[in-house]
Amino acid sequence: MTAPFKRILLKLSGEVLMGEGGLAIDPLVTARVAEEIAGVRAQGYELCVVVGGGNIFRGLSAAAKGIERATADYMGMLATVMNALAVQNALEQIGVDTRVQSAIPMASVCEPFIRRRAERHLEKGRVVIFAAGVGSPFFTTDSGAALRAAEMKCDALFKGTSVDGVYDADPKKVPGAKRYQTVSFNRVLSDDLKVMDASAVALCRDNDIPIVVFNIREHGNFAAVLAGEGVSTIVQ
Ligand code: UDP
Repeated sequence: MTAPFKRILLKLSGEVLMGEGGLAIDPLVTARVAEEIAGVRAQGYELCVVVGGGNIFRGLSAAAKGIERATADYMGMLATVMNALAVQNALEQIGVDTRVQSAIPMASVCEPFIRRRAERHLEKGRVVIFAAGVGSPFFTTDSGAALRAAEMKCDALFKGTSVDGVYDADPKKVPGAKRYQTVSFNRVLSDDLKVMDASAVALCRDNDIPIVVFNIREHGNFAAVLAGEGVSTIVQ
């Protein structure tokens, strides 16, 4: 899988920054994720990162408890900015040059999203972390990841989660559930397989961007999957 990929986008769910003790952003866990990113960056890949916010705030759950949906979603987007800063901090502590760009401008916190500027950062070897999803309510950071992957002409979207791929049924509930090695975009959509939300999957399909689902919590797995050795599911 190595050869054709030069520029990749890593989507991190907010939950991968959580620790055992229920800390929304666990510094040790975040440092481990940063090491995985640094290892891949050191191999010469150009790296974009999109972070979620579900470890802190999810619009849909808050809306169910009475907060207006659009307001709740803006709160969720702000949560992704906190996660982006945490990932940036962890990367810079180990010497990786980064920039955070937010879809919601926040001048004293980070850069606004400017595609050409992000392009320049990548050329200079910086890891660009995109925050605040697409910048609009009623979307998710999965859609933000697919959109940025298309805009930045990424060769693949890597979805780093705490499971090792896509299964034909929930492996926690169905004994003998089978992990796909590869699966088509259309199968993911027709069978409603839990990969990313449907609009994100469709955007990747329409722009020929494969999605690689893998466990980022397993040490060395990000680099291994890129080298064609680790455990993952490729949606293509
Ligand atoms: N969100 C949004 N628009 C976006 C991206 C995110 O409204 O473009 C909000 C939404 O409320 C979502 C929350 O931000 O629940 C956190 O993002 P997400 O649930 O995608 O995070 P993840 O599940 O990846 O941790």
